Amino acid sequence: MMILFKKCDVYSPSHLGIKDILIAGSKIIAIADDIKLQESSFLKIVQCNGLKLIPGLVDGHIHIAGAGGEGGPSTRTPELQLSQLIEAGVTTVIGCLGTDGMTRSVESVLMKAKSLRAEGVSCWIYTGAYQVPTPTITGDVGKDIAVIDEIIGVGEIAISDHRSSCPNTDELLKLTEHARVGGMLGGKAGIVNIHLGDAHNPFQPLYDVTAKSMIKLTQFFPTHCNRNDYTLEDAKEYGKKGGYVDITTSSYPYFPEYEVKPSKAVIDLVNAGVPLENITFTSDACGSLPGFDENGNLVKLEMGLPCANFRELMDMVNVEGFPLEKALTVITCNPADILKLKNKGRIAEGKDADLVFLSGNEIQHVIAMGEFMMRDKIILKKGSYEK
Ligand SMILES: [Zn+2]
Repeated sequence: MMILFKKCDVYSPSHLGIKDILIAGSKIIAIADDIKLQESSFLKIVQCNGLKLIPGLVDGHIHIAGAGGEGGPSTRTPELQLSQLIEAGVTTVIGCLGTDGMTRSVESVLMKAKSLRAEGVSCWIYTGAYQVPTPTITGDVGKDIAVIDEIIGVGEIAISDHRSSCPNTDELLKLTEHARVGGMLGGKAGIVNIHLGDAHNPFQPLYDVTAKSMIKLTQFFPTHCNRNDYTLEDAKEYGKKGGYVDITTSSYPYFPEYEVKPSKAVIDLVNAGVPLENITFTSDACGSLPGFDENGNLVKLEMGLPCANFRELMDMVNVEGFPLEKALTVITCNPADILKLKNKGRIAEGKDADLVFLSGNEIQHVIAMGEFMMRDKIILKKGSYEK
């Protein structure tokens, strides 16, 4: 089956202007000013009348199999549901385990990834959890990455946090080297997704690893860089040294007294001289967002959602005045390049047909791997157990 989308205002993310896009199966096969084909039983034509067309969003950090639990068993978050991705325009997701590498397993994240793939979106995962030594499937981080199709790296490994196992430089170096070599053998990124906590000078453990070895900062993908002012300040220096800087979108505005708004954080980083291609958004969806009163009692419990990416993307454009084609990069081609997902994050011939159409500031249609998942703001495909 082929679909011809007529007169789309294409942001690839570069602004290509009004184009026709032809997809066949799961691939984009042609982009041109005017593709002349007749509708048939093999070809559907969709008139887009100048709707903006952007790549399907790539979210590099979601707790797809649930997370949390730091406030007791009742604070464990549920698994991600397919419709939560679709309503957010996210067509590619990287799953991770998180804090709880003790009662949850990498195997359950892997099976959830298989489930999301079967439901129609693209999904990969990180092996491991917060802790070092970190849980794996085969017994070794590198072996997991090399031989298990869905595994592209390890993480999120916690550093500079009260929940971190505080790996020393040699432990972190060994883990990173295994991830790197596993990635080379498996043709993957082999990247180490790093959870940064609230400690001051949070990037120091990563500098220590690079100072003691031939590992480069680009082997790490540190997240939560906007969690407070001083972490963002350090992230500016880290980014200028060539490191990647990932901004978490879904925890805002639950901690507004110290968190930097994601849309503003990107502009701050760019103005400080961090290359835009080093900056990414991830939602951290399905992470628990507990709120405590002054006595430390749990008073509210929320869960992050993938739609925070799109909200912050729009705020970058509408509030901060950043051009859409630049704003888009942090949630499309930048994560695709950093995570070595070569068919993702761009609208181009030969890439996967992951497409999001916008009317104004809202998502109108979502196509994942060539299939309509949302049409005219109505979700057509839901997860197996969703109502
Ligand atoms: Zn985290």
